Amino acid sequence: MRILVTGGAGFIGSHLCEFLLNKGHEVICLDNLFTGSKENIKHLLDNPNFEFIRHDIVEPIRIECDQIYNLACPASPVHYQYNAIATIKANTVGMVNMLGLAKRTNARILQASTSEVYGTPLEHPQTETYWGNVNPIGIRSCYDEGKRIAECLMMDYHRQHKVDIRIVRIFNTFGPNMAVNDGRVVTNFITQALQNKPITVYGDGSQTRSFCYVSDLVEGMYRMMNQEEFIGPVNLGNPAEMTMYQLAQRIAELSGSKSEITFSPLPKDDPTRRKPDISLAKEKLDWVPKFDVEQGFKNTIEYMKKKLYLA
Ligand code: NAD
Ligand code: UDP
Repeated sequence: MRILVTGGAGFIGSHLCEFLLNKGHEVICLDNLFTGSKENIKHLLDNPNFEFIRHDIVEPIRIECDQIYNLACPASPVHYQYNAIATIKANTVGMVNMLGLAKRTNARILQASTSEVYGTPLEHPQTETYWGNVNPIGIRSCYDEGKRIAECLMMDYHRQHKVDIRIVRIFNTFGPNMAVNDGRVVTNFITQALQNKPITVYGDGSQTRSFCYVSDLVEGMYRMMNQEEFIGPVNLGNPAEMTMYQLAQRIAELSGSKSEITFSPLPKDDPTRRKPDISLAKEKLDWVPKFDVEQGFKNTIEYMKKKLYLA
């Protein structure tokens, strides 16, 4: 198949492109390089089945393809808030463009949605039937509400134009190819620990997240795309929940760091807890995360060491 991966030069996208090439597909990687990097796909450029196009999904594009994975959107709170309007445009205008492309080419389209659609959840763990608790006018809204609108657009194109859709709600995912300046918690803690700088826990560190290694996530996305039974949304994530203080301690230990742990104010609307209920993914996709999270942290530490010229 010829598969379009938007956001393909980003963290998850670059792993997905490689995974799809290994399955024997042709891959068109489309990215505006806002948060992604050519470094992430450098090793794929010589592959005759791989093609890179620098393009912003906010502008329409004509491409022939059989499947579309739509990942184009900054994902780190630091980056998506840096240009909030670009973020909301990617999730609205960009989503419409990609759905239009899917409609014209009859391609199946999978949207990389997020656990952020649940906001600060009042239900725990979060199931797909929960409608969420999201601030519509806050600093995270460009992303949270953007992704909610994107899901709405997916469903409306499906109902009105019979576009073949799949929606996955991704929970915090990490691994190599995350940018050193990404600003998300795993990369911040690792880069700080490796340089023996203070590890910056926001708030008192009691807020929780559940971290999934990237190879598990990519497998889940692929399974969701290639089954005929349901369109989603489906949660993809690792239910192994931990507090940010525990994470800071663990990263410091695994990095052999002398860093102290410091506390600074919690950013506005920062969700207090997050853990996926993955029963649906288990039932429909026969998918559970298998990669040991601790080993995942070690792999990411080794990757960051190289990026920081410490190895
Ligand atoms: P990332 O920032 O590394 O990747 C996003 C990619 O999209 C980058 O390469 C960026 O340059 C590109 N991009 C951004 N706006 C674009 C635009 N308008 N046109 C073309 N390209 C554009 O982040 P990631 O962690 O790899 O996230 C990928 C997708 O998965 C995002 O849609 C994100 O919302 C979703 N997601 C990620 C996580 C996670 O924990 N990593 C969790 C939930 C959802
Ligand atoms: N966080 C932190 N220190 C950092 C970066 C993030 O304590 O240097 C916290 C942040 O406040 C949040 C959690 O870690 O509670 C996860 O943040 P991230 O930006 O990775 O993603 P989110 O899940 O909030 O979208």
